[in-house]
Amino acid sequence: MYNSNVPSNDPGEKTRLPTIDDYRDYVGDDAVERIRKKADSLRGMHVTNINSTYYGGGVASLLSSLTLLMNQVGLKTGWRVIQGTPDFFSVTKKMHNALQGGSINLTERKKRIYEGVVRENAVRNHLTHDTVIVHDPQPLPMIEHYNKTVPWLWRCHVDLTDPDPDLWAYMEPFIEQYDAVIVSREDYKQKLQTPQLVFEPAIDPFSILNKEMTEEEILDRLDKYNIPSDKPLLVQVSRFDKWKDPEGVIEAFKLAREEVDATLVLLGNVATDDPGGRAVYESLLDEESERIKILSVEDTALVNALQNRAAVVLQKSKREGFGLTVSEAMWKGTPVIGGNVGGIRNQVVHGENGFLVESIEETAKYIVELVNDEGKRVEMGKRARETVRERFLLTRYLEEYLDLLLNLEIRVVVRGHNN
Ligand code: UDP
Repeated sequence: MYNSNVPSNDPGEKTRLPTIDDYRDYVGDDAVERIRKKADSLRGMHVTNINSTYYGGGVASLLSSLTLLMNQVGLKTGWRVIQGTPDFFSVTKKMHNALQGGSINLTERKKRIYEGVVRENAVRNHLTHDTVIVHDPQPLPMIEHYNKTVPWLWRCHVDLTDPDPDLWAYMEPFIEQYDAVIVSREDYKQKLQTPQLVFEPAIDPFSILNKEMTEEEILDRLDKYNIPSDKPLLVQVSRFDKWKDPEGVIEAFKLAREEVDATLVLLGNVATDDPGGRAVYESLLDEESERIKILSVEDTALVNALQNRAAVVLQKSKREGFGLTVSEAMWKGTPVIGGNVGGIRNQVVHGENGFLVESIEETAKYIVELVNDEGKRVEMGKRARETVRERFLLTRYLEEYLDLLLNLEIRVVVRGHNN
């Protein structure tokens, strides 16, 4: 039905990529066969994803793995990243914050910068695909600049519990042009004419971020950054962003340390579309000490090693679209203490596979409880891994996209053309 021209994936190659068959042990033969069958009906379909950063943050993590797996099952799936000026990313970061419960002074100047840069990107991107998937607010108005003859989907990854009403009113006419909106939780749905679907994100168990590491590899990674492994490790891995509440993590750690001995590591990166990150990182540096490590390094294997080695992973967010770091840690059998917000609540079942918290004091209390009780950590960690195996592996997410694409009854005859 569609042209198929996917690069080969010879298992003998050094650069071999994960295939759908690699998932058999985790999700079972039936799931793999079901997915393969659905994908076969869409073989050769040309899909593109558009977002605003190639690195840093969950959207880039997800796209990196999902686009490869979609190609592997036969859909020609691409990924384009829009370019923007610092002004543009400063405006879009304010929009991101306002969607997550902050506010924005939405001036004509900001709208001009936002829509202007998106227009420039539309001129540069010639989209002749069978489906276009646009991620998050940054490239949202792209749709205005094309003769829309194929399905366009808007995939919004942010916590939409309480978006700024003025900003939402401004975005709505763009959103309504899409054929469907995908959000990460049922309660993120808004009043819209456009159909809305809920897809929870998922992790790639074969990526550098999540694949098995030996004890030696883990310790080597920690040594490289002088991270002591003599005491229990408490870890939060997050972009440096106020919604991730790094100050709250440090406060909770200090409280907990009155009762238990441990080391805290805050590891973060700064996404290319997140201009505020550097300042948040620098504001934390005064807190560094022998037992509080604050690292801003780009090292995916270090993330894996820390999530593996940690006694407890913290994700004390105040807002969280989903929080891939939570599933990543849980997959490694590490219990998570997470903020009782957004997508963290999809993953952590309080008292079962981790704890959900609403204050610094509660966070400290559960740190102490888990550090003191290895048996409990192991039990919770086992349940945490099983939760991810059942619900948060990439095959489930892939299948949701396949179902949607099949339902859209896409025709390849008429394609969109750039204006
Ligand atoms: N991440 C990373 N290095 C860092 C910090 C984060 O590789 O120093 C990764 C992290 O492992 C996860 C993603 O970036 O895969 C963050 O996604 P999440 O959904 O947790 O949060 P977001 O940044 O999208 O708000």
